[in-house]
Amino acid sequence: MSTSTPQKFEFQAEIKQLLDIVIHSLYTEKEIFVRELVSNASDALEKLRHTQLTEQDIQDADKPLEINLTTDKDAKTLTITDHGIGMTRAELVENLGTIAHSGSKAFLNALKQGGQKNDNLIGQFGVGFYSAFMVAKSVKVYSRSWRKDEPGHVWTSDGSGSYEIEEVADLTRGCKIVIELNDDASEYAEEHRIKSILERYSAFVSFPVNLNGNHINKVTALWLRSKSEITDEEYTEFYKFQAHAYDAPRYRLHFSADAPLQINSLLFVPESNSEKFGMARLEPSVSLYCRKVLIDSAPKDLLPEWLRFLKGVVDSEDLPLNISRETMQDKALLDKLGKVITKRFLKFLDEESKNRAEDYDKFYAEFGIFLKEGAALDFTHKDQLVKLLRFESSLTEKGKTTSLADYVSRLKDGQTEIYYLIGANRETIENGPYLEGFKSRGLEVLFCYEPVDEYVMNNVREFDGKKLIAADHGDVKLPDAPKPEGGLSDDEVKSLGEWLKETLGETVTEVKASDRLVDSPALATNADKFMTPQMRRMMKAMNKDGGDAPVKVSLEINPRHAVIQRLAAARTESPEKAKLVAEQILDNALISAGLLEDATSMVKRLYKLLEQV
Ligand code: ADP
Ligand code: MG
Repeated sequence: MSTSTPQKFEFQAEIKQLLDIVIHSLYTEKEIFVRELVSNASDALEKLRHTQLTEQDIQDADKPLEINLTTDKDAKTLTITDHGIGMTRAELVENLGTIAHSGSKAFLNALKQGGQKNDNLIGQFGVGFYSAFMVAKSVKVYSRSWRKDEPGHVWTSDGSGSYEIEEVADLTRGCKIVIELNDDASEYAEEHRIKSILERYSAFVSFPVNLNGNHINKVTALWLRSKSEITDEEYTEFYKFQAHAYDAPRYRLHFSADAPLQINSLLFVPESNSEKFGMARLEPSVSLYCRKVLIDSAPKDLLPEWLRFLKGVVDSEDLPLNISRETMQDKALLDKLGKVITKRFLKFLDEESKNRAEDYDKFYAEFGIFLKEGAALDFTHKDQLVKLLRFESSLTEKGKTTSLADYVSRLKDGQTEIYYLIGANRETIENGPYLEGFKSRGLEVLFCYEPVDEYVMNNVREFDGKKLIAADHGDVKLPDAPKPEGGLSDDEVKSLGEWLKETLGETVTEVKASDRLVDSPALATNADKFMTPQMRRMMKAMNKDGGDAPVKVSLEINPRHAVIQRLAAARTESPEKAKLVAEQILDNALISAGLLEDATSMVKRLYKLLEQV
């Protein structure tokens, strides 16, 4: 039926190299070529569906959007047909003759880096269309574009360096790929063999897939089915397919709603948080559908940033198929949809945290960082998010956590604030001087170990009407502070304080008697409330001004502590030694505050002190 003479083309050099590897590889799972061709057909149908939204004049507009495979045992052929977008002559050359697409490019790059023909690479990257040559003597691609004025063509190749294109009359829109199988690959002309491959790889393709006239993929759009009919295995298989995962999900939430929007949604939380291992920042990947039609596989504006760890699908009948992020109306709709889903997911987490606390703790250990990010930045969902935060505290065991609500339920009489301390770990906080006063009064303090915690606590600011207060801030007033007994008198403290301030110079802006010290002689609090040690470290790391500003602290001393009492006496008895001791007390306090920057002068001084023993 040819209406012109065939024209011969050479493959681009890279394609030649690729084909040579594909054809001579010993890759054992050759069957993946079926998946690759079905997925290309599915892509082509998807593209057609989108084209239909804006174009009126479409070739063979009435052809069904489905994928048909036929096996012919006698002829040893496998044929895959779709009425998708099709290809023009130029597109055949561009798409099948040059290395324009991502999968094959990545494959060749990996080859260059590894430098050797590793059969496994084919499986990892998928060489797309060219995988057909693992099993083919020859491949014929009959194709006709959706554009009405374009004729059809057949593209033919045996994979050995060149291909031919010839015009063909009377083709219908789409692609028909005929694979003439190698003698050692005749199994792919057997219906049962192809059937089992399709069941494995193509169960969730969103168009009907038929094999020799029989519909194979009946389980599409899992999210539209009723929960009670779906097995755990089906959910897991769907998750693996949809999220490109290899393991089972940690959580799944399958729900539907009718108001304020009609929604069917199936969401998954993966087992682990890949960002945690220093991998690339996650991209939003909950897909957006309208009545089973994919609108956007990774919509950026649907869910808030901090939910970028979620996988799954959202399907809403209320969305227009050609939804655009540019029009205000559509944007508002997406926004509303995102809010409903976010609220529902947060409610789910809240229930999980109550009903299966141990599992929730494990989830939190992986993904808590995202909830903190949300609590600090997402004003709309802050209240729900703050409830989900968990912390160790001075009253929990190591490794056990508490919520802010539980903390509040344990408030002491008269306590109106929520206290927290930031430190590298539990031991650092417990051994520092700041906890003592709270502990001795039975006041609970939350422990924060992560660098972002200070930022999060500052942004969250309060819970249930109670302010969040850093327990090492200078102006923390302990409630119900009993007047400490014993130790130096007020006058003695006053004159010791004056002497200390004079002796210690610029670093100390103020010296006062402390009501929060029990076992330590002194502690330092930041004179500048905003320049916390964490902030200082961060600014230093970022090379920002202020990171090297001189440290200024207010020093609190414990009038009941032996060291302070002895110092008061030594001031007159041996002034030189007293000065060394005072300096050492300050440095010790700076260490606990995370503010001592250079310890060398301290070491020298310590030796001087030791000489006097
Ligand atoms: P990829 O799918 O990653 O782009 P492939 O090697 O699988 O790479 O396919 C190469 C290109 O050939 C596709 O991007 C597409 O443009 C075109 N193509 C392949 N199969 C079809 C088809 N059935 N219908 C229309 N175009 C197709
Ligand atoms: Mg492909």
